[in-house]
Amino acid sequence: MAKEKVAICPGSYDPVTNGHVDIITRASRVFDKVVVAVVNNPVRKEKTLFTAEERKAFIEDATAELGNVGVEVMSNLLVEFAKEHGASAVIKGLRAISDFEYEFEMNQLNRKLAPEIESMYIFASANYSFLSSTGVKEIATFGGDISDLVPGPVAKALAERLAR
Ligand code: ADP
Repeated sequence: MAKEKVAICPGSYDPVTNGHVDIITRASRVFDKVVVAVVNNPVRKEKTLFTAEERKAFIEDATAELGNVGVEVMSNLLVEFAKEHGASAVIKGLRAISDFEYEFEMNQLNRKLAPEIESMYIFASANYSFLSSTGVKEIATFGGDISDLVPGPVAKALAERLAR
């Protein structure tokens, strides 16, 4: 039997949005197994609003119906995490323009570290192309409606934590 094809979907997911869930769902249709890697202490972000365990639980809840998706907190280097999980690919979502430059750089760094792991990109669906965790937090801070943008439990948690 052919070896199981595993992909990693890394991110800070602070918190998970419908845009993330869309990418994870689409990746899960192409790969045998998807491991969502929740970055414990993101380097490029300020302190996270939710703890790694909270962020993990939101994703588990939002992907519960997908039989081949697991969620784990990642505290080491992405390529090491990918090797530990027998993954052959890292999947990233690409939004309108903004993600390209950063991803282009990360792609080359990761290939230098581990040429056997392929980074692959899924374009954001049109309705999520301008959706980011940061944007959602900003809207929630001022009491705006985010119910179309994030899973229900996330909207509730944001309202509790951020509403002024
Ligand atoms: P953010 O930039 O929103 O904080 P993360 O760092 O958690 O997101 O990103 C995890 C992955 O999901 C990255 O590959 C990112 O490009 C992708 N992503 C984030 N938001 C979306 C979206 N709305 N549509 C498609 N991909 C997205």
